[in-house]
Amino acid sequence: ARPRVVIVGGGAGGATAARYIAKDSGGMIDVTLIEPSRSYFTCFFSNLYIGGYRDLDSIAHTYGTLASAHGVNVVHDWVTGVDREARTVSTAAGHGFAYDRLIVAPGIDFVDESVPGWSTAAQNRMPHSWKAGSQTQLLKAQIEAMPEGGLFAMVAPPNPFRCPPGPYERISMVAHVLRDRNPTAKILVLDPKSSFSKQALFEEGWEKHYPGMIERIGPDFGGANVSVDPDAMTVTVDGSVEKVDVCNVIPAQKAGHIAQVAGLTDGSGFCPIVPATMQSRIDETVHILGDATIAGDMPKSAFSANSQAKVAAMAVRAALTGSRAFPAKFSNTCWSLIDTDDGVKVGASYQATEEKIAKVDGFVSQTGEDAGLRKATYEESLGWYAGITADIFG
Ligand code: FAD
Repeated sequence: ARPRVVIVGGGAGGATAARYIAKDSGGMIDVTLIEPSRSYFTCFFSNLYIGGYRDLDSIAHTYGTLASAHGVNVVHDWVTGVDREARTVSTAAGHGFAYDRLIVAPGIDFVDESVPGWSTAAQNRMPHSWKAGSQTQLLKAQIEAMPEGGLFAMVAPPNPFRCPPGPYERISMVAHVLRDRNPTAKILVLDPKSSFSKQALFEEGWEKHYPGMIERIGPDFGGANVSVDPDAMTVTVDGSVEKVDVCNVIPAQKAGHIAQVAGLTDGSGFCPIVPATMQSRIDETVHILGDATIAGDMPKSAFSANSQAKVAAMAVRAALTGSRAFPAKFSNTCWSLIDTDDGVKVGASYQATEEKIAKVDGFVSQTGEDAGLRKATYEESLGWYAGITADIFG
């Protein structure tokens, strides 16, 4: 019988791993991908959807090509249990799947009570929109329905979280929409972090494109002492209550729940891995990818998850078919759009050390760059999106 690989989660990490293991093993490995959604909406470029630069269809992807071109057995179901002793997973629909290697790539879930007053039960009043799809649609609709001169608030997350520049790209896109539709509206960012990714670039861009519209309150002024009341639509910052029209709550994050159910997380809520192969430090028959991992110097991004998936796919093929494995190399770039044609980026390459995925060298856009370079950076991101979604879904 062919060796069996079961993959939990068909996002940036899991779907890439499925495609590469199936494609590069030439049918020698039986690959099953278990993912509840038939359509996967990418979080990457979901901010551009909010900004009006993309439509929702353009960020939706399906699994048909993985099945038809690469022979991946795609199962739409939730994994509810993992028996690592017996090497089986079980699903909500009552099915069981045996594996020789398991790949776990469930993305993130939210830490309960991390924003007092908020729970997922409140996500229709105060959306997180940190998993894309209906939540992103809802937030966009709420922004567009804001009263004239209204207040948009974001409760930004503490580290570590998925997509370090993401909250600030979102603020840029919200400002872009409001400048056109509702120019007297205001944006309040409540941030528990004293600094954030590409901060100088965002702050320069906000000053240039949206002067006077955005106020950020960091931890020194109460940004880490925030609670919300979704029924009253208020936020309380250091004891002072503010009425808001839209409130985007992005809670603290942990590995997708199933990683914890499977006993693969540590006290941080994320999964320790062996950098060279992306194997779990807890169970060598399991590889873990993407946002659920403790990935050393790598940020939690789709680019990172895709890069880690290729390392894991090579290691899995080597273990199951004896194919050759080369030293692990990783890379990442995160682009952000600040306003039309004003794109910035940050990126790095990484290698595996015993201890962690370690940064080798990096680059970041500079303040004061000319408009031509910023436009080229934005256009580069369009090419990246087309390329990576083809690399993930076929
Ligand atoms: P995901 O892509 O979330 O995939 C996890 C999958 O697992 C999901 O489809 C889920 O349904 C499934 N799953 C979960 N639990 C189970 C279970 N029990 N059984 C079966 N399936 C399960 N990254 C970039 O590189 N560039 C960007 O520009 C960028 N922009 C972003 C903007 C925003 C607003 C946000 C929120 C994120 C952005 N990211 C970006 C980050 C990127 O989306 C994530 O880092 C990436 O999706 C992580 O991939 P993953 O495979 O770990 O998780």
